[in-house]
Amino acid sequence: MRSLAALLCKSGADLPYSISRPLEIVEVDLAPPRIGEVIVKIESAGICHSDLSVVNGSRQRPLPLVAGHESAGVVLELGKGVKGLKVGDHVTTVFLPSCGACNECRLGSPAFCSVGATSNTRGEMISGGSRISFDGTLVNHYNGVSCYSQYAVLDQRSLIKLPSDIPFDIAALFGCALLTGIGAVRNSAHTKQGQSLGIWGLGGVGLSALIGAVISQASPIFAIDPVASKRDLALSLGADFVLDPSENLRDQFPDGVLVAIECAGRADTLKSAYDATSRGGTTVTVGLPPASEMLSISALSLVADVKTIRGSYLGSANPRVDIPEFVDLWRAGRLPVERLLTSCGPMSDVNEAMDALQGAQVVRQVIHPHQVS
Ligand SMILES: [Zn+2]
Ligand SMILES: [Zn+2]
Repeated sequence: MRSLAALLCKSGADLPYSISRPLEIVEVDLAPPRIGEVIVKIESAGICHSDLSVVNGSRQRPLPLVAGHESAGVVLELGKGVKGLKVGDHVTTVFLPSCGACNECRLGSPAFCSVGATSNTRGEMISGGSRISFDGTLVNHYNGVSCYSQYAVLDQRSLIKLPSDIPFDIAALFGCALLTGIGAVRNSAHTKQGQSLGIWGLGGVGLSALIGAVISQASPIFAIDPVASKRDLALSLGADFVLDPSENLRDQFPDGVLVAIECAGRADTLKSAYDATSRGGTTVTVGLPPASEMLSISALSLVADVKTIRGSYLGSANPRVDIPEFVDLWRAGRLPVERLLTSCGPMSDVNEAMDALQGAQVVRQVIHPHQVS
């Protein structure tokens, strides 16, 4: 079938993207779904920093690709062998499919699935190959999702079924921002009630981590970001203290925080988070720094201060367990996802949305693939 989609042929275009337009809206061809795959009509797709990283070239992925990895939509067509989904079901996408059979999956850690990680790096579906082509040439998938598109072929292992009353703009954020942010606090840091916690970088993932910290009853909660409007939003979402990155957290809280969550994706910010981590504390790194950046810390401090640095991808989550819980928390009013949404716009404004994210003034923007002006 044919679908309008945002195609990235070359990374590292000049800013602003509203002029260079690295994401081009073109009509692609989608192959029929294979065994275990479905076609989803994408209703809402989030503009996440990992998409921007591929556009600006700080994260290398095979090109050309159809971008987008955070979305929600409706199942339109089933391939053979699909279990637990039917036409008309509402779904959210997960940007790391888990094979269910590798060592990591069998040990109960789908976020560490090596098969899904490999297919994502190759730009392929988890069962191999591409289902997207443009002008007769195969196009790469992005994280098995490629949702900046009116329709997408997705493996059933990249989808979580949702109740149909959740707005698509909310449901879209479940599969990346919330899973990654809340998961970092709960699954990676195992944050407990009364533990001090700091979050560096208040984008969609960082503010989701803040929501997770409030749910976990961390206290006090520090939120650090250079943008004043994001600090204000953090205060209204439950942060106890907010700081500009130029301020030293230890000036206010000399012991430092037991849990430090880095969501800015910068090695220097990770260093700040590590330095602010207290004795016996854990620094969780969530953001994706450019591959060339190195982290330099005191080797002695790891031992003498009994510190832990922990990487967190996909929030070390089990999406099939965590996302249904998000639904319950959202219904109970404890997951104020609406507050993270800065704007909604047509897919044709995707380059303008990337500019806004690069400018760091926005939290989460979503685009609607069926609105193309
Ligand atoms: Zn993301
Ligand atoms: Zn696996």
